[in-house]
Order: sequence, then structure tokens, then C-alpha cells
Amino acid sequence: MNFNNLIHHNALKKKILIDNGHGCNTPGKRSPDGRFREYAYTRYIAKAVVADLRDLGYDAERIVPEEYDVSLSARCSRVNTWCAELGRRNVLVVSIHVNAAGKGDRWYNATGWCAYTCKGQTRSDKLADCLYKQAALWLPGHRLRMDYSDGDADQESNFTILTNTYCAAVLTENGFQDCEESLRFLESDYGKEAIIGLHVDGILDFIDPDRPYGYKDLQRLRNEGLIPARRTV
Ligand SMILES: [Zn+2]
Repeated sequence: MNFNNLIHHNALKKKILIDNGHGCNTPGKRSPDGRFREYAYTRYIAKAVVADLRDLGYDAERIVPEEYDVSLSARCSRVNTWCAELGRRNVLVVSIHVNAAGKGDRWYNATGWCAYTCKGQTRSDKLADCLYKQAALWLPGHRLRMDYSDGDADQESNFTILTNTYCAAVLTENGFQDCEESLRFLESDYGKEAIIGLHVDGILDFIDPDRPYGYKDLQRLRNEGLIPARRTV
């Protein structure tokens, strides 16, 4: 099976940008016992999402390849440079995070997945909707944190990466780094695959909804040895 033969050519022109949240020098942003670091986990997920989207034939890249923290204004300007070059409708950005109920001082019991967009109805809400639908499929039994007060599921926030970028932009909070139950899932192989799968399929539902394949097909072909294992960049 060759995914490239199936790809819809308009989707090929889209630039998928993935932001992996914080850096190795960001204070906090870890589990109370220090074993889990948000910057490291989100880099693992972001690298996998980019590699998998590329294996499926799409144009994806991380906007922060650095390990250290890159300022929000620099991240926005990297996104907006692509918007200026390709047109804002041909670019999207998803910023991947792990939530926290406290400040890393102790364990909490908060669990669940959610996505944020900027205020108002924009193309970002459509992208968030696609990600929520895939989260429901990839995270059965998990809580999806939703806010329907404005008519859609996503929560709204003035996060800089959402308000100062010109293209569709969504920030995902994938479980909680200060909840042991949440970490058991996030750190497991099936948990990582679910987080990767919901991002890959959610993004593709937005840019290429009629494609006849999804992340599970990529997993199956890899398991059968028909395509090479993931090559992260
Ligand atoms: Zn974060």
C-alpha cells in the first residue's frame, strides 16, 4: 500500500506545524516525584506526530526543534513566517502540552483531555472539533473536558500561541502530570500511541477528511513490517 497514491493533492499543500510546549530549562512542568518532564514527553509525542504525518505523505514539522525553551513570541513568529509564505489558510499549528492541577508540590486526582482555542469562532474551532472527535475515539473511558457555553466543545483561552498566530491554532492538554493515574496511561506504550493517534487523525480530519486511511493503518503496516519503523527527526 502506498499512501502517496491516495493523498488528496490540496492536502499536500498544507503546512502542519507542531509546537512541543516548554523547554528543558522551564521551571516546574514536571510530576511531583520529578520522573515525568512535560518538555521531554511533549517532544517525544511531537516528533512522533511529525514523523507519522510525513510517512503518510504530508508536510509536517516542529517549530521548536531546540530542547531549551523558545519564547512564545519567537514561536509565533516562526508560525507567522509560514503563514506569510503559504497563506494562513494553508498552515495550522497544534501546541502539545500536559496539564497540571497544581504547581508540582503534591499529587492530585485531576484527569482528562482537553483542547483550547482563542476566543470567538474561527477555523481553529473546526480544528479543535476534529481533535475532540478523535480524542473520543482514541481515549475511550477517559474524561474529555468540554465547555459548551459558546456552542462547541473546546475551551477558550488567550494563550499567546493561539492569539498571536494567523493560522488555525489549537493547544492540547493531554492528561495531568501531577496525577498518578493519568501518568500510568501517558507513560504506557498504548497511552503514547493513543496520544499520537488522536493528533495525527485529528489533524488529518481537518485537512484531508475524505482520505481512506488513518493512523491505525500506519500502525498495522508497521506491525506487519510492510513499511519501516518510525523515523523521528
Ligand atoms: Zn504546558
